[in-house]
Amino acid sequence: MIPYYFVPIIAEHFFCVWIFVVIHELSHVLVAKFFGLQIEKIIFSLIGAKAVIKNFNLTIAWKKFWILIAGPFANLFLAIIFFGRNNFFVGANFCLFIFNLLPIYPLDGGRILILILKKFSVGKKFFLKLNRFMIASLFLLGILQFILFFPNLSLFAIAIYLWRINKLSAVNLIYELYFT
Ligand SMILES: [Zn+2]
Repeated sequence: MIPYYFVPIIAEHFFCVWIFVVIHELSHVLVAKFFGLQIEKIIFSLIGAKAVIKNFNLTIAWKKFWILIAGPFANLFLAIIFFGRNNFFVGANFCLFIFNLLPIYPLDGGRILILILKKFSVGKKFFLKLNRFMIASLFLLGILQFILFFPNLSLFAIAIYLWRINKLSAVNLIYELYFT
């Protein structure tokens, strides 16, 4: 059980992380707008925000790259800004920076890796294998975290989330890998 006086602290931390995720997503939107793309919609939810950019898949690769990298860069920028001022803000933004750059679909890092593989026209099968390997590794790390930091299930939950998203968007992944 969490003592009641921790609840406002946890809520406040949760809210701050939510803001950082929203800033991440809005950075994608800003760069997309800068390149003249239309934003179909921005969906806000408990876990942050998700922007749907019109015709993103049809956009030229180097523009896609800057739109994708803008999100993690925003978190890195925030981590640097808060460095020495607020350890929690630095940690949260640094985690978001690293997490989003993991080479897993549909995270920014996974989609950037697809762009790079296409640029050098190699290893699309390699990406599919790496994607599965990374999700399996997250599962194993999640189990390890659960045992070592009982009852912390955060990594395990992230692994399940990414595994589900990959199952649901398998067609999108193949489309992005082979047809765009
Ligand atoms: Zn992102």
